[in-house]
This record gives sequence, structure tokens and C-alpha cells, in this order.
Amino acid sequence: MNQTGKVLPRWVLLSRRHLVDAYQVGPAKYMEVVNAFKPDLWVSLPDEVPSWVAEKRNRLSVDRTLQWLDQCLSLQPAEYGNRCLGVVVGSTSLDERIRSAEQTATRNVAGFSLGGFGLGEDAAQRAVQMEAVLTKLPKEKVRHVSGIGLPEEILQAVGAGIDVFDSIYPFMLTKGGYAMTFPLNMENSQRSFDSEPTGEELARSGGDSAKINLRSVAYRLDNAPLVIGCKCYTCRKHTRAYINHLINTHEMLAQTLLEIHNTYHYLEFFKAIRHSIKLDKFHDFRNWFTSTRQKSGTPSPSKSRQ
Ligand SMILES: [Zn+2]
Repeated sequence: MNQTGKVLPRWVLLSRRHLVDAYQVGPAKYMEVVNAFKPDLWVSLPDEVPSWVAEKRNRLSVDRTLQWLDQCLSLQPAEYGNRCLGVVVGSTSLDERIRSAEQTATRNVAGFSLGGFGLGEDAAQRAVQMEAVLTKLPKEKVRHVSGIGLPEEILQAVGAGIDVFDSIYPFMLTKGGYAMTFPLNMENSQRSFDSEPTGEELARSGGDSAKINLRSVAYRLDNAPLVIGCKCYTCRKHTRAYINHLINTHEMLAQTLLEIHNTYHYLEFFKAIRHSIKLDKFHDFRNWFTSTRQKSGTPSPSKSRQ
């Protein structure tokens, strides 16, 4: 909250444990930064609120996001053309989500960004809201979403009609010492192990059917790559045992090698989705992926940002 009692988004600088400084950011400051970067696409400044706020605050969030969108649009230099994705908010209120979508669709934007997801809503609520919003947006314009990242969530969003994602999911897994191992190919599923461990065995080492925990002592002498057959640099050159050693001796290289694999694996997942859409087999791919994961115990969809 600033001196006039107005709530503004904040960019916060943190040291390892403490708040160093916080900058309040309004449309003018925000557009100064956007215009300095000259991006191909940019997202208007939203006033996102978590799912548990009162109805009044949620209505204010929708009004303010629309007002800021207009201000942002008026501050984009004409020579760059229209590259703005207007943010649709509304939290868990279907009426507010629809109002936000309908109003944003009347603005001269290049596409839409669905904001306010991954802020406490459950997966069932998210699916209903996403579908309701997308029916109100013109089909020919790009639709972007941030705040979700689990593979099942991505498939749900693609099924609903989302085109573009940004996610911190690979980074969060890397930070925790995990490597993605979920399957990517319907026809020729890659193996993560010579003899597949049970869900219980994976859980004991801190992993599940989607990822393995490289901190675990289970990988101390494991000379296999993170995923057998994976073509990333890490899997071609290094073993689980080596990465386990790097993590346990606090070597920074562990995070670098894990990030290389996780980013590669995640991008391969998106490649597989695009391929299935091209072949008109997206629904088969989604059903196969979901059923494979359910068989081996799928983790619950997240309520927080990924
Ligand atoms: Zn790899």
C-alpha cells in the first residue's frame, strides 16, 4: 500500500533471508521498462489477487486491471505496433472472470494472458474458469497463461485452448534436486530404469512417476543417465551417481546439469504436444499420458504457482 492508501504491485529485492527494498510499480514505471526492452510481446500490468480475497476486492482487481490495460496501451510507442497481451483476471468468481474477458476483448490487443491462476484455486475450479473465459475471447488471437506448470495442468490448458505458457516448473524441480522423468512418446516410451521401480520404491527415495530425487542415496552408485535414451548434454555425458555426488558436496554444477536436462525434457514434452496436435491426436496423447501417470500414482495438481 502506498502513502495514498492505493495498493500497487511491488517488485521486491531480497537478500538470502531479508527484504532489501521494495519498489511500487504503476503503469507508467512498468511501461518505461517494457519500452526499454522492446519485446516482441508483452503482458499488461495486472492487479492479481489470491483465490481467498473478498468479492469486493476481486471486483476492484478486475476494474483496476482494465484501467491499467488502457493506461499501458496509451503508453506503448506507436512505431512498435500492437504487441500487448491484455490480462484477464477475476480470481475464482466466474462472473468476474467473464466480465474481465468480455471487457478485455473490446480493447485493441494482440492477444490475451489469463492471469491469477496458481494462486490457491483447485484444479477443478481452474478448468471451469479457463473454459468459461476462453469462450469469450476471439479465437484468432493468441492466448497465454502463467502460473501453472505440472504436465497434467499443461495438457488441461492446451485442451481448453491455451497457446503459450510461461512457467517456473523446471526451475523449481532443479532447485529441489529433481530430474524430470515422465514419459513423452506414445509409440516408444523412454525408460528411466533398466528394471522399473515400484511407486513405493520411488516414493522412498523422494521421487514419483514424474521425477526422481537426485539427493537420494538410492542414486549414489547408479551409473545410468537421468533418463535412458535422453539426448540432452547431461544425459549423454553424466550419470545419476555423479550428479548425486555433486549435490551432496554442494557443487553448483549439479544445478546446471539438472537444469539442462529439465529444460530439455520439458521442451520435448511441448514438442510431443505440438506433434500430436499436428496429427490430430491430441486427445489420444492426453488420455495416454494421464492414464500412464495414474497407473503409477500421479501427484495432485498444484494450487500454487509453477
Ligand atoms: Zn537428459
